[in-house]
Amino acid sequence: MLRRKGARVEAVTPAIRQLIADMIETMYADKGIGLSAQQVGVPVQVLVIDVREAADRPSTLEVNGQPADVNQFMPLALINPQITPVGEPVAGPEGCLSFPEIYADIIRPEVVEVRALNREGEPMQFRCGGLLARAIQHETDHLHGILFIDRMTKEIKEQLRPELETLRAETKEGLKG
Ligand code: ZN
Repeated sequence: MLRRKGARVEAVTPAIRQLIADMIETMYADKGIGLSAQQVGVPVQVLVIDVREAADRPSTLEVNGQPADVNQFMPLALINPQITPVGEPVAGPEGCLSFPEIYADIIRPEVVEVRALNREGEPMQFRCGGLLARAIQHETDHLHGILFIDRMTKEIKEQLRPELETLRAETKEGLKG
């Protein structure tokens, strides 16, 4: 499921709104700051974000060229998001609810321009940086079947090999049962 590309959402139906509500609930229950529809078994282009838990890692936000309050923007649901890098690539720590206990520095653009539909199906556009930009890029990758292990440097992936092998074995065992 995590390797499947999400289908574009053509219409924001009550089923999509319910999916968003369920995803936000799951994200909070798992104490995550982001979740993609793939991670709850639905391959469509929907993600949710709430960076308020990670108050020690700053985010920036600009809407219509004006600075905006990140907290008031949360929780954020994005449908069919499209990302354009703006800032320079920087390394920052990431984890993933689908890879428990595994953390690594990942290099991503620090600032991105985002276009998407909101949960009302209306087009939205904004520019963000810091943790918010990182979280949106991580979750948008999920929508295209890309995982953060794909973006690790060879060296980091090599260091994490024992943990990744254990997780792979456990996942296989889980699928049998
Ligand atoms: Zn993830």
